[in-house]
Amino acid sequence: MNGKKIDNSRRKLIKGALAGAAALPFAGLLQRGWAQGGKEKVDPGSSQAQALHYTHDAAALPKSVARKPNELCHNCRFFQAQAAQGSSPQWAPCTIFGGKLVSRDGWCSSWTAQSG
Ligand code: SF4
Repeated sequence: MNGKKIDNSRRKLIKGALAGAAALPFAGLLQRGWAQGGKEKVDPGSSQAQALHYTHDAAALPKSVARKPNELCHNCRFFQAQAAQGSSPQWAPCTIFGGKLVSRDGWCSSWTAQSG
């Protein structure tokens, strides 16, 4: 009976240790993601931003850029509002730009409608 209790405790301890060890690489990835891109705004002059016609202010885009008026970062599926502070953040990480911040009023040619 006592041996069975020890076995259960040991099993729980080993399970916890394994779960913790398995989570470590992901925690590192998350930390790196935030450190590298999570607090840095996308530079509209960068080669990626230029290639995708990214702008912080979609209203200022020239008419030659094909964008529908309702297409804005804040209603794009890649705008990670839940990862930013506040319920309606002005800046949030964008998946396409590796987690760098984009403006809710911005736009790029990778705009994709939110699902659901
Ligand atoms: S992918 Fe979406 S959220 Fe990201 S910059 Fe382009 S329009 Fe904005």
